[in-house]
Amino acid sequence: MTTQTELQFFGFWAESLEPLFKQYGTRKHPLDYQNRYQLVVMVILSAQDSDKHINELAESFFATYPTMESLSRATVEDLHQKLGSVRNFGNKSKWLMAIAQEVKNDAHIPTTLEELTKLPGIGRKSANVIIRESGGKAEGIIVDLHVVRVAPRIGIASGTNPEKIEKQLMQTVSQERWNEAGMAISFLGREICRPSNPKCNLCVMREVCAYYKDIEANIKQK
Ligand code: SF4
Repeated sequence: MTTQTELQFFGFWAESLEPLFKQYGTRKHPLDYQNRYQLVVMVILSAQDSDKHINELAESFFATYPTMESLSRATVEDLHQKLGSVRNFGNKSKWLMAIAQEVKNDAHIPTTLEELTKLPGIGRKSANVIIRESGGKAEGIIVDLHVVRVAPRIGIASGTNPEKIEKQLMQTVSQERWNEAGMAISFLGREICRPSNPKCNLCVMREVCAYYKDIEANIKQK
């Protein structure tokens, strides 16, 4: 049963997240993809690498492999040659080949979290990104390394385990905002709430942020 305190907590965050949704909620992901096939490939390639780097090699990669079908005919050597500068390119090449050989056609790329996470190299975070960017119905919330840092700072979640943070966010944010929530917190982390020296004076979450309240309290004590 939901307690009065829990109801107040949900109500508080429902209102407090609005400025964040307003600023970042519908902004497109930084990966510069042109269709769902490219989105899936680029999401896999960008894990532990940078979106900027993957955007830079996308044009050449997709000129050679414009569809899932063409990718299914690639060899490991071909992909290693194309993807040699990508972090963990060996595993990523294997995953892309396995996905292309299984899916075969762009029109058959899965749409649900369950189906997407059955594909090699696609975990919950990647599946949530693919669903959000495809305009699908959210089944979870994107928790990338920025969200793992920022959500506990704000005070809307705790710990460092991405799956636990995702569960906490899903319990706090209403489902119709799930697609917006993860990327909005991630954009805040990319642009404002950096690992060191967060730009709190520019932050729309300053009024409610636990980390900022601690900073203010420490300043007053001095
Ligand atoms: S107020 Fe500061 S610490 Fe809190 S979310 Fe914003 S930038 Fe991060």
